[in-house]
Amino acid sequence: MAVAASGELHVVNPATLEPVGSVATTDPTAVQELVTEAKLAQEPWGDSSLADRRALLVEVADVLLDRADGIADTVVAETGKPRVEAFTTELFPAVDALVWLAKNAPKLLAPERVGYPQLHLKHKRATLRYEPIGVVGVISPWNFPFAIPFTQVAYALAAGNAVVLKPSELTPLSGALVAELFASAGAPVRVAQGGGNVGEALVRARGLGKVVFTGSAEVGRLVAASAGERLVPVTLELGGKDPMVVLDDADLARAVDGALWASFLNCGQVCSGVERIYVQSALYEPFVEELTRKARELDLGPLISEEQRDKVAALVDDAIAQGARALTGGRARPGAGWFYEPTVLTEVPRSARIEHDETFGPVVTVARVADDAAAVRAANETSFGLGASVWTRDAERAGRIARRLRAGTVWHNDHAYSYASSQATWGGRGESGFGRTHSRHGLYDLTSPKFVDRDSGRVPVPWWFPYDDAAADAFRGALRVLYSDGIAARARAAWSERRALLALAKRYRR
Ligand code: NAD
Repeated sequence: MAVAASGELHVVNPATLEPVGSVATTDPTAVQELVTEAKLAQEPWGDSSLADRRALLVEVADVLLDRADGIADTVVAETGKPRVEAFTTELFPAVDALVWLAKNAPKLLAPERVGYPQLHLKHKRATLRYEPIGVVGVISPWNFPFAIPFTQVAYALAAGNAVVLKPSELTPLSGALVAELFASAGAPVRVAQGGGNVGEALVRARGLGKVVFTGSAEVGRLVAASAGERLVPVTLELGGKDPMVVLDDADLARAVDGALWASFLNCGQVCSGVERIYVQSALYEPFVEELTRKARELDLGPLISEEQRDKVAALVDDAIAQGARALTGGRARPGAGWFYEPTVLTEVPRSARIEHDETFGPVVTVARVADDAAAVRAANETSFGLGASVWTRDAERAGRIARRLRAGTVWHNDHAYSYASSQATWGGRGESGFGRTHSRHGLYDLTSPKFVDRDSGRVPVPWWFPYDDAAADAFRGALRVLYSDGIAARARAAWSERRALLALAKRYRR
């Protein structure tokens, strides 16, 4: 985490509260200049070949593999997260994105020939070009301070864009590292450091082509409104309140271990972390008992800041005041650092704030559900729609439930891991945002598709002026002949519309 002081962000390790380093903040008035610079740098980059862009991605992947330990050190110092997670949740998604893009972007972005099946347009040819948008503003949160900006910058660059990155003010060192890794390989990436006012200046900058925002729904709304005033497109990756549905035929031990990881990974500071668990009656008691026992034994990292810990504590206190039971945890861990005990809550009333608000901490609620329909209903009772998971030995039953869950991703006997597999489209519904990152959808979202038409200019165009009654008849007839369903219907239409077709032929002979 970091605190701001006179033009600098001072980073403090949230586990020990010891200083880690500092970065200079960018004055909001200087952000426009960064965007202008990026715009100039984008031109040659956007003109570079797909093979050159691929070479840069491969080069950066090699650097990541070489520098993995140093990158993990920075992330661990800045967030206090366990070192294992620095590899599994920061480096794996980053390298995977580069390797996926190196393999797939040249194919996906290559100009596509588009044919014309319409009889009257058969002589035309076209090409669909996936052109860059220009300058993409990437605004990032602190919870995965390396992986999130890194993957988004990689996708934007692969599509031929330049990037201005605004990392979270709580994790500026990881953000600076992302920018440095790409910039030192020669990619057009600039970084603007600072708080919300720097992000605001970026969204308002002239010449910005798109904003990719990852953060809270609250700030996402402000960003979308500001970008909307300028008609700048936005991708919003916002919060979540992911449900986990445990069916009566689930593998109990796997479901408990999966729930532990998906609820308490990164101290619960995960957009697609499990915050609500719905267990069918047959497994409810043993599930709750095992989950509580194992949660008690966990040794978690800290929350990112005192403010974040206070937010989590307030949600838990409110739930308990309204009748919820804390089977374990429910309080901060004493001593230095912003620690909070892993917490399992049951009997949470619907009126408790934790039922609706994103907790973003090491807290999970567990409730009993009677059947599949009740599980789906409960899981969908949220304004968010990022991820969800179904735990069952029956893949078909899982598939049926997956279709009814309102979410951008549904996992089976696992949760959240697919952020680290670049082919898996990522994004949400409702208050979890819109637009997609990862996969071909994320890549195409960072392009401006251009349809380029080609015509020899030798074929007359019958729909041009002059207009008369005969022309209207000709096109009414042609409509049926061209678009009736099936060859027989079209042949019948051609016979009954022969007069119209003759009139049409005359227009070709003008
Ligand atoms: P946040 O919304 O407070 O801040 C996100 C970023 O926006 C920061 O860089 C911040 O400085 C900047 N910002 C703040 N005000 C701004 C403004 N007015 N204009 C422009 N930028 C502004 O979020 P956070 O606390 O950093 O991150 C936690 C949130 O992010 C959680 O809700 C979490 O679920 C969400 N998240 C979502 C995903 C996803 O993929 N959907 C991934 C990670 C985190």
